[in-house]
Amino acid sequence: MGLPADAWARDELGVLEAKGLKRHLEPLESPQGPRIRVGGREYVNFSSNDYLGLANDEQVKEAAREAVLRHGVGSGASRLIVGDTTAHQSLERAVADFEGAEAALLFNSGYAANVGVLSALLGPGDVVFSDALNHASLIDGCRLAKAAVVVYPHRDVAALEALVAAHPGRRRLVATDAVFSMDGDRAPLHELSGLCRREGLGLLVDEAHATGVLGARGAGLCEALGVRPDVLMGTLSKGLGCVGAYVAGSAALRELLFNKSRSLVFSTAIPPAMCAAAEAALSRVRADPSLRGALWRNISALAAGLRGLGVPAHEDSAIFSVVLGEPERAVEASRRLRALGLLVKPIRPPTVPVGTSRLRIALSAGHSLEDLDRLLGALSEVICLGPIGGEGRGEDKSPQPEAR
Ligand SMILES: *Cc1c(COP(=O)(O)O)cnc(C)c1O
Repeated sequence: MGLPADAWARDELGVLEAKGLKRHLEPLESPQGPRIRVGGREYVNFSSNDYLGLANDEQVKEAAREAVLRHGVGSGASRLIVGDTTAHQSLERAVADFEGAEAALLFNSGYAANVGVLSALLGPGDVVFSDALNHASLIDGCRLAKAAVVVYPHRDVAALEALVAAHPGRRRLVATDAVFSMDGDRAPLHELSGLCRREGLGLLVDEAHATGVLGARGAGLCEALGVRPDVLMGTLSKGLGCVGAYVAGSAALRELLFNKSRSLVFSTAIPPAMCAAAEAALSRVRADPSLRGALWRNISALAAGLRGLGVPAHEDSAIFSVVLGEPERAVEASRRLRALGLLVKPIRPPTVPVGTSRLRIALSAGHSLEDLDRLLGALSEVICLGPIGGEGRGEDKSPQPEAR
C-alpha cells in the first residue's frame, strides 16, 4: 500500500477499467478439455486451443508420468549448460521427421521461439515484412531484432510485393502466421513462398494453430500446401496439448539458434517429461488421423450452422470469430452464453484491433454435434444484440496493434 509499484498498478488498472478492457483470471477445477469445471459449474468449453484433446490424453499423460520417474521434474539449467537431455534430442529428431526438415530445435514456448528466431537471424540493416494480423510474439520478435519492420496489409501479396521492391536491405525475411490466431483464416503460403524465392527473401511461417490440425500428417499448413519455408515454427502447446514449441529448418539454422537465441540461451530448458509427453502427442497425431477427422467434422458442422445464422464462416481452421465491435458487447455476449453453460471468452483489444471485439470460438475433436447445436442455438439469441460481422478482418486498421 502506498508503495510506488502498487500506486502505478492502481493507476493503470483504472485506465483499463474505464476502457472496458480489464481482465481477470479464472482457475479451472478440472483438466483441460471440451467440458470443464469453473467456479463450481460445468461448461462446454469453446475457448481452448487444445484442438485434439491431447492435453488430457491417457497415452500422453502416461508418457509424462514415466518420464518424470526417469528424469525428475526440473531440467536444472539452460540447454547449453546441463539442461539438455536424451528426451530433448529424441523429441527434436521426431519433430524434424514429422516436418520433413533436416533439423529441429525446441523452445520453451511459441512466444520464446518467435522472439528467439527473429532476433538471432536479423539485426540492424535487415528488413522483416510482417502481416498486419501477425501474432504478438512475431511483432515482439521484430522489435527485438532491431531490423526495420515493414507491416503489409493482411494476406495481401500484391501489396507485399510492392513493399519488397521499395525496401532493400541486407537480409530480408517475410514472417507470417500460417493460421491467424484470431480470425482463423490462412496465409497465402504458395504465393508468399513464390515471392520469397523470386526475390531471395527468407520465409518464417508460424504454424501455432495448424500443428496437429492441418496437413495429411498433421504437420501444418506448409505440409498441406507442399510449401517449404526456410524457418518453420510449430507449437507443442495447442494441437499437441503440451507446452513448448519448435523451429524446423536446416542443421545450420538449428546450430545458429542454440548459439544465439537469447530466449533459449538464457532460459532453463523445457522439462524432459514435457518433451516425452509431446513426443507421445506427436505419435498420437501421426498414428490416429481420426482425431483430426473428428475435429474437421466439427469445423464443417459449425461453419454450416454459422452461415445458417447469417454469420459468414470459413472452413480454414478450428477458429471462428463472431465480431461484435465494442468490448462491452463481446463481454455481454460471452456472459449470456455462459449463463447457458457455454464458455466462449470475449476477445478485446489489444489482442484484436480496436472495433473488432468478438467472441472467438475454438473447436475441439471432443465436441459432440449436440454441443455445436447448443452453441448455435444460444448464438442465435445472442446475435440479437444487434448487427454483427463474420470473421472480421481488421486489416483496414493499418497500424499494427500493440500486441495480439
Ligand atoms: C499461441 C501463439 C503463439 C505462442 O505460442 P505459445 O506456445 O502459446 O507461447 C505464437 N504464434 C501464434 C500464431 C500463436 O497463436
